Amino acid sequence: MKYNKTILIVDDIEANIDILLKLLGDEYDILVALNGDSALEILESEQVDLILLDIMMPQMNGYEVCSILKSKENLKSIPIIFITAKTDEDSIEKAYEVGGSDYITKPFKPRELMARIKTQLKLKDVICHLEFIASHDEMTGIYNRRKFFSLSQECFSKNKKDLCAVMIDIDKFKIVNDTYGHAIGDEVIKLVTQTINQNIFDDAIFGRIGGEEFAIVCYSSDPEAIIKNIDSTRQKIENLEVKADDGAIVKFTISNGIAKVTDKTLSLDELLKEADTALYEAKGSGRNRVIFR
Ligand code: GH3
Ligand code: MG
Ligand code: MG
Repeated sequence: MKYNKTILIVDDIEANIDILLKLLGDEYDILVALNGDSALEILESEQVDLILLDIMMPQMNGYEVCSILKSKENLKSIPIIFITAKTDEDSIEKAYEVGGSDYITKPFKPRELMARIKTQLKLKDVICHLEFIASHDEMTGIYNRRKFFSLSQECFSKNKKDLCAVMIDIDKFKIVNDTYGHAIGDEVIKLVTQTINQNIFDDAIFGRIGGEEFAIVCYSSDPEAIIKNIDSTRQKIENLEVKADDGAIVKFTISNGIAKVTDKTLSLDELLKEADTALYEAKGSGRNRVIFR
């Protein structure tokens, strides 16, 4: 378990690094890079929470390092505080233009630097938390409808070959609610989610797209493998039970529709509609089954 936040210090002068290490070393885990290239290398393998970045460095200057980091999807959210001897307004303005979060001039006031670091770390945590809330379903913890569609759309746009979609709906769920109450209904939704999640393909996008409706998007050249996978999930769910308050045993099942991209599939929406049609067929032909179209 990691408790300390990690700060990467990028500076070509070791004496500067030593001062920062002394100041920050007790409170944070510190990584050090003497130039931009080595900073980029470290960031490939280490989880870093904040970067203190010098501007004047040989080869790549701090602005260039910052621009590169901000262009990388996996690194762009790391806050960067420029810490530099340059005090002119043009330099300060440029630091923000390339994506810096804050700017401190040397010689710096130690407590001010600490406070600014804390502020940026807190801000990053808040943003992270808000992004999670905005993209996940509160009750089940899986992707919500919006995130499911945006991730699936990304996949479709990047490479639609072998893309498959699964639509899943809990059968006769209204009866569960009406008979045992909403709380038991919620238990069923959570248990179904858990079971699908445990059984699901690696790298599959799995979301709750409606009350008792779920969807999966994943790549597979072999639809048979997906059919088998979903059918085994279906069987597992069929064998589950939830105990109602009065001791009654609540049973439940899911219906599943699967579709795969063909040459004719022009949009993600078409793929999902095809899976939905298969789901509709599963419902119409008796429920608790898997249909592939
Ligand atoms: P079908 O087999 O045709 O899908 O029948 P169904 O009863 O499952 O379908 P219907 O769409 O008629 O009912 C879905 C019900 O799901 C209605 C709604 O009240 C309930 N529901 C939606 N979201 C939630 C939720 O978050 N918790 C609970 N407990 N129930 C929910
Ligand atoms: Mg239903
Ligand atoms: Mg439904």
